[in-house]
Amino acid sequence: METSTEGAAEAPSSDTVRAEAPGTGPASADVPVTVEPAAAAPAVDAGGTTERVAIAPATLSPSRASDFMQCPLLYRFRVIDRLPEKPSEAATRGTLVHAVLERLFDAPAAERTAPRAKSLIPGQWDRLRETRPEVVELFEDDPEGERLARWLGEAEQLVERWFTLEDPTRLEPAERELFVQAELDSGLMLRGIIDRVDVAPTGEVRIVDYKTGKAPRPEYAEGALFQMKFYALVVWRLKNVVPRRLQLVYLGSGDVLTYDPVLADLERVERKLLALWEAIRQATESGDWRPRPTKLCGWCDHQEHCPEFGGTPPPYPLPVRAGG
Ligand code: SF4
Repeated sequence: METSTEGAAEAPSSDTVRAEAPGTGPASADVPVTVEPAAAAPAVDAGGTTERVAIAPATLSPSRASDFMQCPLLYRFRVIDRLPEKPSEAATRGTLVHAVLERLFDAPAAERTAPRAKSLIPGQWDRLRETRPEVVELFEDDPEGERLARWLGEAEQLVERWFTLEDPTRLEPAERELFVQAELDSGLMLRGIIDRVDVAPTGEVRIVDYKTGKAPRPEYAEGALFQMKFYALVVWRLKNVVPRRLQLVYLGSGDVLTYDPVLADLERVERKLLALWEAIRQATESGDWRPRPTKLCGWCDHQEHCPEFGGTPPPYPLPVRAGG
């Protein structure tokens, strides 16, 4: 078993928003968001004009599991109320950089150079604006395009840094942006999207995730690895193979964090997820979602609905069990 952080470790990473996400924010790092409805009830937003459908959680992704661990009320706002969230520059830049790194592997190995990767940025930015028109509002107050140019420049730097950490001319990913889903014996459905899966000729599997933020300090490495162990558990459940290596590539700080899991790690994370799911189930039935204020509240889009900030949550849109 090994945990190593190559290079200096600084601050927690920023995140990525995937196209299918019902809501994400800077506190949730580079993780896909996928929730399917198990039960539905109508909900109306605070303005009384936009009808949304409230859902009881039926599946668990790493980011939503992290949300619940960070703050149960935040989980409720995102998964059950599905309150809208504003796109952020950091998350959108992460999405753009991920798209560029994924598409670069379309090219023959010898052509996977930094200039080529950077040349993909404008096209992927156009594509992102088409698929997620809400990101356009990020630069609406930037008529001269100065902030946009700076932001695109930062994306270039992140892409360029990747070439100091990995050599794509020597990589042939087995999978990119791989959607995975596995059902545990308990019936809990786990799902997510893995940035890259490498398979060695010997069959050993490496799971790779790109982060556009900085590597966490060593004392926070376990939190960063939670997402990777989640994916490793899903792969193990699907393929009956324990991935040989989990690898986090931090483009913001130029660090690579690796961990070689063993079966006991995956069994431990499975027990943790089952306990988490039971807590989510109980909160769903009782309607008792507690706020848990931390310094991450500064990133939360929902302070106006949060009692910790003088707000009131919207009416709970799901049935509440008597005595819950
Ligand atoms: S502001 Fe803080 S305590 Fe309130 S919902 Fe958001 S994360 Fe939770």
